[in-house]
Amino acid sequence: MASLTGTHRLTSAKRIVIKIGSALLVDHDTGALRRDWLTALAADVAQARGRGQDVAIVSSGAIALGRRRLGILSRQRLEDKQASAAVGQIALAHAWQEALAAHGLICGQILVTLDATENRRQYLNARTTLDTLFHLGAVPVINENDTVATAEIRYGDNDRLAARVAQMISADCLVLLSDVDGLYTADPTSEPDAEFMPEIGHLDDRIMAMAGVSRSGMGVGGMTTKLQAAQIAVGAGCNMVIADGRVLNPLGRIADGARCTWFRAQATPRTARKQWIASALKPNGSLTIDEGAVRALRRGRSLLPAGVRGIEGDFDRGDAVWVRDGSGKVLARGLSAYSSVNARRIAGHKSDEIEALLGYRGRDEMIHRDDMVLERMEEEQPT
Ligand code: GLU
Repeated sequence: MASLTGTHRLTSAKRIVIKIGSALLVDHDTGALRRDWLTALAADVAQARGRGQDVAIVSSGAIALGRRRLGILSRQRLEDKQASAAVGQIALAHAWQEALAAHGLICGQILVTLDATENRRQYLNARTTLDTLFHLGAVPVINENDTVATAEIRYGDNDRLAARVAQMISADCLVLLSDVDGLYTADPTSEPDAEFMPEIGHLDDRIMAMAGVSRSGMGVGGMTTKLQAAQIAVGAGCNMVIADGRVLNPLGRIADGARCTWFRAQATPRTARKQWIASALKPNGSLTIDEGAVRALRRGRSLLPAGVRGIEGDFDRGDAVWVRDGSGKVLARGLSAYSSVNARRIAGHKSDEIEALLGYRGRDEMIHRDDMVLERMEEEQPT
């Protein structure tokens, strides 16, 4: 029964992020790329695209591939890893391009740093680039930009990175393909009584304590980073599954009900994102809007610069702001696509005048409706 529901979670998702560990893509003994596996996975991706699903791939393997090419298999210093990533990422991207092209799919490489997911300005940018790629039918292939990130500003593991990407693009399904088939109550290799957990509805301390140590020879993520990824994903309204990726066509296998562990999201990505905007961010300023814009907002539309009459406070692009009507009453809060300086320049103007006013063609909306939450309760009014 659980597998049937799991099948549905995968095949009916609108947007899927697939995280692929190094051990799946790169042969442990030879350090060579596992082309047959990649070819089969590309077929899985093509099938999902055929169902109309957006697919993003978070692929590890740059360090494992580069290390071999540089002949530094046993060296582990950060600079060796970074040099390996510089060399290996080219091979990795090329392999993906070739494998996906065989199915007529175009892929785009995105190398992210911790900043791209944690800094709101960069986050908005990365989100828009990914959205644009999806609308154009391309498959983003994502990895951490390992070559420049130092230890403190690095994810280091692609499990959490993939979960952040899933959150950033409001994905509703995150697939972690690994060399384990899911979560057990204890490490199954040393504890014969370890029980398999097919479905987790609530990530409590008991579940978090089940993280054993990594058994994978190449990747960095053990069960700990997978459970941290699950926390991020389910909190963002995204179902997550840990599945054995060592077989050919692992996605097809999950869809057929193969054994795996599902972590159930409690909300939809849209609700979770709106909750984040409504509660986690402190507005740095206000936009006062005219009657026409008030009506547009009530109908669920975005806020255009033309409807903005006044701007208060200093804020950056991507910061949260209040949206008020002419009497000062708060109607909404949202993420401004423009800084307060630029918002002042384009307020009251049509969107097609933005380029002439700012010197670049920015977003049409001052606040996109996906980045805005309407206020409902009078008592939430700030003073
Ligand atoms: N970004 C690393 C790489 O491409 C992998 C990180 C991980 O294995 O989680 O080699």
